[in-house]
Amino acid sequence: MVLVSFDHIAGVPIHYARQPVAPYGTQGKGPRTVRLEQNFHATLERCLLDLWKRSQLGAPECLVSGGCYVEKAGRHGEGRAIDIDAIWWKDQPPLITRNAPFDARRYLGVEAVLRMHLGMVLNFWYNQAHEDHWHCDDGTATDWAYGSRSRTLFMQAALSYVFGHALPGGIDGDLGPATRRALTDVIFSPSEKTIRAMDSAKWLTFLERVVTAAFGG
Ligand SMILES: [Zn+2]
Repeated sequence: MVLVSFDHIAGVPIHYARQPVAPYGTQGKGPRTVRLEQNFHATLERCLLDLWKRSQLGAPECLVSGGCYVEKAGRHGEGRAIDIDAIWWKDQPPLITRNAPFDARRYLGVEAVLRMHLGMVLNFWYNQAHEDHWHCDDGTATDWAYGSRSRTLFMQAALSYVFGHALPGGIDGDLGPATRRALTDVIFSPSEKTIRAMDSAKWLTFLERVVTAAFGG
């Protein structure tokens, strides 16, 4: 494992805003040096450059991260994961991940771009541990995958908050009939009205529509 140390990525300083260093929800302290495995670092940098562009907001003032490489088991211990707590742009309210339900369009627009580059993204709706940050790693491909609870939760949140489809079961991770109907409205043509037509190309189309709906363009 070759670890790269850095305190800026994609032109933006890394900050830290968790106790006892600084309160969550602030810009916290930075630039702060963190470490990532070199290939993951390169993937993340491409992802963030794409995010600055697709969001049409440009490079932010700082990226608040709860952690990158840490000496523990799992992807963080391999230097192939980052926790993103918040993004602060100039002349914009900050995007604080814990506010996801109240800032859902921007939150899901950003997540859609993260998902174009990183196969594993755990978000606000995944579980309580992820209500205050996105966990992102490259442990799985960015492709569509049936039965992926994290993808289904993201899809349902986007269908509800970005495209305005009421889902009676809520954001429950279950790819049931209401979710399928809403998805059909967003990405399928009348000739392919079936979830079986869902594949990685359609998934990318869905992600792109979320980005466009969230940020325009
Ligand atoms: Zn994590």
